[in-house]
Amino acid sequence: MFDKILIANRGEIACRVIKTARRMGIATVAVYSDADRDSLHVRMADEAVHIGAAPARESYLLGDRILAAARATGAQAIHPGYGFLSENAGFARACAEQGVVFIGPPTGAIEAMGSKSAAKRIMEAAGVPLVPGYHGDDQDPALLRAAAEEMGYPVLLKATAGGGGKGMRQVWSGEEFDEALAAAKRESLASFGDDAMLVEKYLTRPRHVELQVFCDNAGNGVYLAERDCSVQRRHQKVIEEAPAPGMSETLRSQMGDTAVKAAQAIDYRGAGTVEFLLDEDGSFYFMEMNTRLQVEHPVTEMITGQDLVEWQLLVAAGEPLPLAQDQVRIRGHAFEARVYAEDPDNDFLPVTGTLGYLQPPQESQHVRVDTGVRQGDEVSVFYDPMIAKLIVWDESRERALQRLATALAAYRIGGTVTNLDFLYNLATSKPFREAELDTGFIDKHADLIFHQRPQDLERELPLAALALLLYKQQQGSASAWVDPWSPWQGGSAWRLNEPHAHHLTLHCHQQDHAVEVEQRGPLYLVRAAGRETQLQGELLGDTLQLEVEGHRQRATLARTQDGFTLYLARGACHFREVLPDIGEADAAGAAAGLKAPMNGTIVALLAEIGSTVEANTPLLVMEAMKMEHTIRAPLAGTVRAFYYQPGDLVDGGAELLDFAAEGAES
Ligand code: ADP
Repeated sequence: MFDKILIANRGEIACRVIKTARRMGIATVAVYSDADRDSLHVRMADEAVHIGAAPARESYLLGDRILAAARATGAQAIHPGYGFLSENAGFARACAEQGVVFIGPPTGAIEAMGSKSAAKRIMEAAGVPLVPGYHGDDQDPALLRAAAEEMGYPVLLKATAGGGGKGMRQVWSGEEFDEALAAAKRESLASFGDDAMLVEKYLTRPRHVELQVFCDNAGNGVYLAERDCSVQRRHQKVIEEAPAPGMSETLRSQMGDTAVKAAQAIDYRGAGTVEFLLDEDGSFYFMEMNTRLQVEHPVTEMITGQDLVEWQLLVAAGEPLPLAQDQVRIRGHAFEARVYAEDPDNDFLPVTGTLGYLQPPQESQHVRVDTGVRQGDEVSVFYDPMIAKLIVWDESRERALQRLATALAAYRIGGTVTNLDFLYNLATSKPFREAELDTGFIDKHADLIFHQRPQDLERELPLAALALLLYKQQQGSASAWVDPWSPWQGGSAWRLNEPHAHHLTLHCHQQDHAVEVEQRGPLYLVRAAGRETQLQGELLGDTLQLEVEGHRQRATLARTQDGFTLYLARGACHFREVLPDIGEADAAGAAAGLKAPMNGTIVALLAEIGSTVEANTPLLVMEAMKMEHTIRAPLAGTVRAFYYQPGDLVDGGAELLDFAAEGAES
């Protein structure tokens, strides 16, 4: 076994690999960019080497620098994690040439699966079932369109170099084809430096079921059951589970044997995942093989009791697989939810920010949190905005799902928008409980999942007001510095024989609310929204003990950059104090739709200056965090000027163009 390895990655997966290496007595070397100097993976590793600037192509994608770091520190092997260089055959080859073990499959296997279309040809030859489609080299747009027309719409365009749902477009009719092809090609070129496409029949109600396979150097191959990753947004996995609900032993062994056959067709070694689309009638089709550890590998670990990173290290060190197929047992059920800094109500747009408050649920044998960040860390534009993976296990699907809901409700993150409420709504929705899974799940049940938590102002406002008051008292008494102008220091509300009343204005649920809090001994009377509530409360650190009309409950109060978040048993309430002399900025800018939704790069201008367009016409495409966003005309009108050119960097919120709505005078 190796005595030192280097992890060519960052974030949660780097931390995950370090944990196993440490348990096995293997020393670890981390690499880091400027942005990650103080990050968790750097802290956890025994040593860390700086490899460059924040953008991945100036650090985590620089194979030469990473190899130099391995040589300089005496690391014998490199674990690539997922993403970055994990499926880069050139890097794997360079490792081999320099005598460093690449913890992954042989170069040939990566190459064989690196192109989705070449992979399909190999699988076809090996007798693995494929989705009907065109995966040839001729990329003439007319030919691609003819192929689509021949197989019949809907079709799916896929970047042959693709991954992570990028460079992929559904096409439902001939009229949409050209625009979809152009967009898929642009996205593919930007993400993978290649714009070759394949066209596939789009199955309308499939499930995504993938098999975890492992092969060693002695020719052994096993599968470690399957994962169901049908719940996806923009073709990216959101919640994964293992085993797949309703999977029969017969189908599992059929799919498992096919997956091992697929791996052996390319002389595979180490961990791999064979992804299939499972159709309603039980037929399954090869989609692709990922030649690395997957993000969602923990659900397999939870049901098999195996450590897949340990298996990877064993195989890479030339040892045999720890188990034969008939020794693989599965027990119970596991879920993984991907917690992201993103806005589900704004098309899942990635969000940046500082994790001002971070309290994951308590870990136990049932709850596991794989993360690479701590409170105070930044979610930056440079990398994937995943904050953590929340993994739960229990004896049955029903019980595991209950654990997932409880853990999601207990997850507290302040300082950035997250998908936690969305995940909670999803996990507790009836169709998900009943495992009515297919890849269209989120679209189909959007009304159940995207609903905002009902605003319960009557309940939340008094709690928020009391929390604020207690916070101010805590700060006042804790601080030696006294602001002579502060009403809290002045104690102006204290009047002999008069109630002790405070007047506050709270901004909560998009509105300002006048609140009066009257203190009577241990009791607080809060008058707000035309109602009076009697409360008692105590704030210790960030824990708020509340009693509302005899009902005792615990909440957490977090200070955020622009106010407070009060985390209640279910859901959170965000609020801030409005100080009397500070005017509220007019946030509802009229042409909000024509501003950059976040920092990014202009990709294409789609309208002529001076042209008159219909409402909803695409005007401009920008790319942010590797995703394309199309800015459309909010109304019918005229494009008068673009303020940026393709390739320009823009800041979030920047005005992108001058657009005159029809009939509007200026
Ligand atoms: P990527 O490598 O970008 O993740 P995949 O080929 O693995 O792309 O596909 C991602 C997802 O897209 C699948 O899980 C599935 O939901 C959907 N998908 C892919 N191919 C098809 C198809 N032919 N019909 C329907 N859905 C598909």
